[in-house]
Amino acid sequence: DTTHGAILYLENITVSFDGFKAINNLNLDISVGELRCIIGPNGAGKTTMMDVITGKTRPTAGTAFFGQSIDLTKMTEYEIAHAGIGRKFQRPTVFEQHSVFENLEMAMKMDKRVKTTLFARLNSEQIGKIEEILKLIRLNGQENRVAGLLSHGQKQWLEIGMLLMQEPQLLLLDEPVAGMSDAETVRTAELLNELRGKHSIMVVEHDMGFVEEIAQGGKVTVLHEGSVLAEGTMQQVQSDDRVIEVYLGR
Ligand code: ADP
Repeated sequence: DTTHGAILYLENITVSFDGFKAINNLNLDISVGELRCIIGPNGAGKTTMMDVITGKTRPTAGTAFFGQSIDLTKMTEYEIAHAGIGRKFQRPTVFEQHSVFENLEMAMKMDKRVKTTLFARLNSEQIGKIEEILKLIRLNGQENRVAGLLSHGQKQWLEIGMLLMQEPQLLLLDEPVAGMSDAETVRTAELLNELRGKHSIMVVEHDMGFVEEIAQGGKVTVLHEGSVLAEGTMQQVQSDDRVIEVYLGR
């Protein structure tokens, strides 16, 4: 067993684009139930790392394991999504013409493991699950609203809810609070804190105030030039001289 019970295990990952190493010998592992924050300046390799995890980009070298035995470097994007890695891109992609409830319903019915069809009636257990997610994403009472009329922040929450309907084993969130109001950002931190321990989550984020809210005592990883520059609690990485240098310039 080389994965030490991790849900995600990246070892010596390198991604070269025409000789330029966007990811350079990256080592990172995420434990089951962990909420990990990934920070780092523009160009640090955060997006490329998520592309490797989700099969969008093939690493030039290195290994990437999901759970104990799933080799991500040998799978397609589609296979990885169905194996249980849910990714939320920066821009929300909800079904704008459909209601909040229908969006969650469709997300559930698109899950290959759920034995249902698009037009099948929901059973009480399925309705209960949708109601639970509605509360979590702060949209209960809004379930009949057309998604296109939601605020930007509400659309982001709805999309997180849609991912949760599929019960991912690992949730990847790319800048979830970009473009949100301060109040929405605070509520998103509350939402993620409610998910803590119940899901394995990786959050890539620029908003340091938000990262502080969700990092709590957990680990924060700082990427720089395609590798891990520092890793530790928010307090530890914030006082790390190399991190200060990278963020403030020399
Ligand atoms: P981040 O998400 O941390 O801002 P990225 O992963 O987007 O960083 O990019 C890391 C580096 O790799 C950047 O210098 C970027 O210009 C480069 N890069 C990313 N994708 C490509 C690509 N397809 N071809 C060439 N260079 C790329």
